[in-house]
Amino acid sequence: MITSIDQNTKLYGVLGNPVRHSLSPLMHNAAFLESGINAVYLAFESIDIKSAIQSMRALDIKGMSITIPHKSSVIPLLDEVDPQAKDIGAVNTIVNVDSKLTGYNTDAAGALRALEEATPVSGRSCVIVGAGGAARAIGYILKKNNINLIITNRTQKRGKELSKALDSRFIEPEQLKDIDTDILINTTPVGMSPDTDLCPVPEEALKQEMTVMDIIYNPGRTKLLKTARDRGCKIINGLGMFIYQGAEQFKLWTGQEAPVEIMKRVVEEALYNKE
Ligand code: NAP
Repeated sequence: MITSIDQNTKLYGVLGNPVRHSLSPLMHNAAFLESGINAVYLAFESIDIKSAIQSMRALDIKGMSITIPHKSSVIPLLDEVDPQAKDIGAVNTIVNVDSKLTGYNTDAAGALRALEEATPVSGRSCVIVGAGGAARAIGYILKKNNINLIITNRTQKRGKELSKALDSRFIEPEQLKDIDTDILINTTPVGMSPDTDLCPVPEEALKQEMTVMDIIYNPGRTKLLKTARDRGCKIINGLGMFIYQGAEQFKLWTGQEAPVEIMKRVVEEALYNKE
C-alpha cells in the first residue's frame, strides 16, 4: 500500500500476541495513503510488553494499537491514561507526543457508533453476552448512554463482577430465553471461524424486532446473526465496531477524520472475498 517511504516517514503499529492475523495494518495503511499522510503501520508480535513500550519511546513510534493480551497490562507503563480507558480498565490505543505516552480506549466508541447506525440506543434495554474485555468496554459506554443493562456469562463469578462494576443485573445463560430486551450483543468468541456452527444463545432468546449485534466479524454472518435474521431481528456484525475503533485511533494519531469508506472496503475485500 505504501508508495514511498523516506526519512520523514512516521511509524505506527499494532502490538499483541498473536497479531499476524490482524487486519489493522491493511486498514491503517490504506487510511494513511488515502489521506496523504507519510506514515507506515506494522504488526509487532511481542509478549514482552515492557520492552515493547520502551522501544516505542526509544524509536519514536508515534502511535500503537494494543491488542490481546496487553490491553490491561500496558496501563502502568504509560505516562497518562484517558479517564474513560481508566474506568474501563483497558487501553487499545497509545498516542506518543514528544515521548509522552497516553492511553485511550476506542473499542467503546467504535461499538457505540456501529450500534447507533442501526438503532436508537438511549433509554433502551440491552443484554450483553460475555464478561471479558470487550464486554467491559461496551457495557461501560452503554451505561453512559442511559441503557438498561443485563449481563450474562458462562462463568458466573466473572459475570457478577462485571454486572456489579456496571451497576447492572446478572442473569444465568439459561434465563436468556425468558428475557425481553431491545438489543442483544454477543461479546464471546462463540461462532467465530472456524467454529462457525456454534451459537452463543438459545434460538428462543431471539425475538422479532430485537437488534442483535455480534462483535465477531469473521465470518461476516455468524450462526447467531443468521438465526436472528431468520427470526425477524435487525442484525449487525462486528465489522463496524472494528472499522470505527480504528477510525477513532486514526483521529487521535493524526487529528484528521478517518477515511472510513476506504478502510471498510479494504477490510471487507480481505475478509469476505475469500468466503
Ligand atoms: P476475553 O476478555 O477473553 O473474554 C471472552 C468472553 O467470552 C468471556 O466472557 C468468556 O467467558 C466468554 N467465552 C469464551 N469462550 C466461551 C465459550 N466457549 N462459551 C461461552 N462463553 C465463552 O475476550 P475479549 O477481548 O472480550 O474478546 C471477545 C471477542 O470479541 C473475541 O472474539 C474478539 O475477537 C472480539 N472482539 C471484536 C472487536 C471488534 O472490533 N469487532 C473488538 C474486540 C474484541 P468466561 O468468563 O466464562 O471465560
